[in-house]
Amino acid sequence: MKVIVTGGAGYIGSICAAELLANGHEVIVVDNLYQGHRAAVPPEAIWHHADLGDAAQVAGIFRQHRGIDGVLHFASYTLVGESMQQPFRYLRDNLVAGANLFEHAVAAGVGRFILSSTANLFDRPERMPIEADEHIVPGSPYGESKFFLERMLAWMERIYGTRYACLRYFNAAGGTPQRGEDHSPEHHLIPIVLQVALGQREQLTIFGDDYPTRDGTCVRDYVHVLDLAQAHILALNALDRLGSRVYNLGNGTGFTIREVVRVAEVVTGRPIPFVVGPRRPGDPAELVASAARIRAELGWAPRYPTLEQIIGSAWQWHRAHPHGYGDA
Ligand code: UDP
Repeated sequence: MKVIVTGGAGYIGSICAAELLANGHEVIVVDNLYQGHRAAVPPEAIWHHADLGDAAQVAGIFRQHRGIDGVLHFASYTLVGESMQQPFRYLRDNLVAGANLFEHAVAAGVGRFILSSTANLFDRPERMPIEADEHIVPGSPYGESKFFLERMLAWMERIYGTRYACLRYFNAAGGTPQRGEDHSPEHHLIPIVLQVALGQREQLTIFGDDYPTRDGTCVRDYVHVLDLAQAHILALNALDRLGSRVYNLGNGTGFTIREVVRVAEVVTGRPIPFVVGPRRPGDPAELVASAARIRAELGWAPRYPTLEQIIGSAWQWHRAHPHGYGDA
């Protein structure tokens, strides 16, 4: 298929773009390089430096490229913590970008949409692990913005007959030899832990150890970014057959922050000193996915499910690229 990948210069988007290309798809990457890196974009992809907040730029892309089969929408502000400080970046900018993209895509006759969604839809889950039909209580303006984009797609289906899959990632992590996580500033746990291992930071600050979990620190379900990419490809290929779907994506096993630190010490062979600070607003105590639906419907099976594999692949990338894409 010929697909547009927004956010294809970012961490998950660039790795999905590379996997789509490897699976024979034609890829057009659109990214404003706010967090993304030009060097992360696969060289075989068509490249557009454009901002989805600018409707005229979006319209221009769809004028230039006819016959688009699908849109994979990764581009977004993505930080739970930041969204509690700057809610309108999320409640306005993420929605405007999505609406501009979706409106022009529909006008150009695009019928397939894949949305990067989030576990932050589930602030008060009734069951753990969290099934795809769990009731939705966004945990932050970030989660709320993704929920609204899911609703936008549902209305588009009803009004225009387009199809969509919403993939709710739990904690994306890991890397490939060519691509990895490089945010500035970095907010995510595993790259920060690895920066400590590399001696680029003195220590990790654990955000709270008074949660109702086995060691007091937050429990998260880490999932390898290549397994996420596989899920996108399966979902894209299945849309015509299955219709619109929502899926949770994780390994079904949660790890505390202290457990992540211990595995990272083993994988890197280096000490990871840490201190405990206050809680980060917007963080739920525990998020673990049941991916039962996507396993059953699409045959998704993670190839890199262990924390050792996930942290190990991230470590390989960080060690080879200690300054991220600045080394490219
Ligand atoms: N975390 C932490 N210290 C850090 C960064 C993250 O204690 O410097 C915690 C964070 O509060 C959360 C977990 O690690 O409980 C995973 O956070 P991350 O930002 O990687 O992903 P999120 O769960 O927010 O999507």
